[in-house]
Amino acid sequence: MEPIQSLPGTEDILPKAQFVGQDLKVADIHTWQRVEATARDILGRAAYREIRTPTFEATSLFERGIGEATDVVGKEMYSFKDKGDRGCTLRPEGTAGVVRAYIQNSLYAQGGVQRLWYTGPMFRYERPQKGRQRQFHQVGVEVLGSADPRADVEVIALATDLLQALGLTNLTFYLNSVGDKGDRARYREALVDYLTPYAADLDADSRDRLSRNPLRILDSKDDKTQAITQAAPSILDYLGPDSKRHFDQVLAQLSALGIVFELNPRLVRGLDYYTHTAFEIQSSDLGAQATVCGGGRYDGLVDALGGPVTPAVGWAIGLERLTLLLEALQPPVAMAPDIYIVSRGELAEANALQLAQKLRHQGLAVELDLSGSAFGKQFKRADRSGAAACLIVGDDEASHGTVQVKWLVSGEQISCSQASLLSDVDGFLQQIHNARLKVAM
Ligand code: ATP
Ligand code: MG
Repeated sequence: MEPIQSLPGTEDILPKAQFVGQDLKVADIHTWQRVEATARDILGRAAYREIRTPTFEATSLFERGIGEATDVVGKEMYSFKDKGDRGCTLRPEGTAGVVRAYIQNSLYAQGGVQRLWYTGPMFRYERPQKGRQRQFHQVGVEVLGSADPRADVEVIALATDLLQALGLTNLTFYLNSVGDKGDRARYREALVDYLTPYAADLDADSRDRLSRNPLRILDSKDDKTQAITQAAPSILDYLGPDSKRHFDQVLAQLSALGIVFELNPRLVRGLDYYTHTAFEIQSSDLGAQATVCGGGRYDGLVDALGGPVTPAVGWAIGLERLTLLLEALQPPVAMAPDIYIVSRGELAEANALQLAQKLRHQGLAVELDLSGSAFGKQFKRADRSGAAACLIVGDDEASHGTVQVKWLVSGEQISCSQASLLSDVDGFLQQIHNARLKVAM
């Protein structure tokens, strides 16, 4: 029978380093776990609390929350009718669901600022390529309830802290302000005035956007369109006094934190509820899919989704792109148990199973060989496991309540009673630690 393959644009994440000698073309779980643990640590220390929302929601949430004129909603959504004839969509991003949960659970009723973060899979029907998948993952943060420019700066600083803590380099942080609704209406007019004479030379998508969503033309990937927009008016010249004050404060505080940025007035989001700060972090090591993190302020979204007017700011980091960068920097390492237990014989095998459990209960990482093969073969696997020590149980040891402890690096082997081993697991752990230190030196 033909084995069934995964769908295009989806990927397995495996404990890759565990498969020694196999050049697996998949992502490594340890890299992912490191990213998740670092995110949890850094965001937790800034008082962000994790939120988990459903992976599918009413289609109308994304139509309203992301906007029908966007590629995400217009072309990329995984939408379906369920058996109850409800319009459902696999979430293409995290913000809409978080804001829905914020409104539905009246999180605003507590007053003050809600700092939330999330991680999980997102779904977009796109052409799969390196760094672009149909099921991909994000870590994101949302701060709801603060219009203060310090909130913008805080989330930006957390994104840069996270990427830095993971050891990433060659990143550029692009920053812009898209002003408020009024600023953008005036800018939109100026942009359309500027672009209309060139309409015939724009790519087809951009020509289409000229009337529907002209700001989006600024991030067209088409060479000819880019050449035309080079000399387009800058949104920064259209900011009103309030927007300008907000942006100046963001710039000043970022500089005070030593965060280096480049202004990019072409970085815009075409939707009405995006306001003020917009930013992206790009890596020069990723090729075409360069953007690792995208974010900004969205003071109009909570209101647009039926909640009370609530200023908000957030970002999302694409984890496939991030882990690609990390694996290139640092090849994945296999997880090694503290000890590997080999056994042979009916009595020995039952005894080894119990010994493994008792040692695990006391905090050791224990791998038990289940093969039942000759000791020689089991020893080879013990070596490959990376354990510091191998415990050997034969029927003889089992009947006397003893065990052979073989230190895998030195080859030194001693016999001891299982009871004494179990009564001083701390001492045993110390010996394991020392054996590991010797290998590292
Ligand atoms: P792009 O310009 O790359 O399509 P986007 O503007 O659609 O990005 P956002 O909606 O801002 O992306 O999502 C934030 C981040 O999520 C992106 O910067 C990227 O790292 C990641 N991301 C978005 N779409 C995908 C995808 N299909 N596969 C992998 N990562 C993705
Ligand atoms: Mg996209």
